[in-house]
Amino acid sequence: MTDSKASPEYGRPLPRRHGFGAEFYAFCKQHELRFQRCKQCGAWRHVPREMCARCASRDWEWAKSSGKGKVFTFTTVTQPMMPQFADAVPYSPVVIELEEGVRMVSWIVDARPEELRLDLPVEVVFEDVTPEVTLPKFRKA
Ligand SMILES: [Zn+2]
Repeated sequence: MTDSKASPEYGRPLPRRHGFGAEFYAFCKQHELRFQRCKQCGAWRHVPREMCARCASRDWEWAKSSGKGKVFTFTTVTQPMMPQFADAVPYSPVVIELEEGVRMVSWIVDARPEELRLDLPVEVVFEDVTPEVTLPKFRKA
């Protein structure tokens, strides 16, 4: 879900921002983490999509997340796949499971890879990486 070209301002690729992705990142720019929640059955979902996987309803809203969650899984990158990340190695992409049950790929801003463990409690922080783009990342809670 990223454009492969690096942003000149940020130096790294930025997420694609069109359709539901544009709406998701517009909330991030306001420092709000919101996910789709089904208005029929209440199920949360991410990544954004048109229809509820539980009840098939197309009636949904952008609901505000608590921003609290835990590390569901992670890996450590020692050989960057993209040159824009060469200065970051070693780093650990993480999958965060939010309290609402949705999972998202992100970064932990205040822990080295060797400090990470499964179920580590985390909370969202927002990094304004360009004037237009804010990325949701996480810190230890
Ligand atoms: Zn539903």
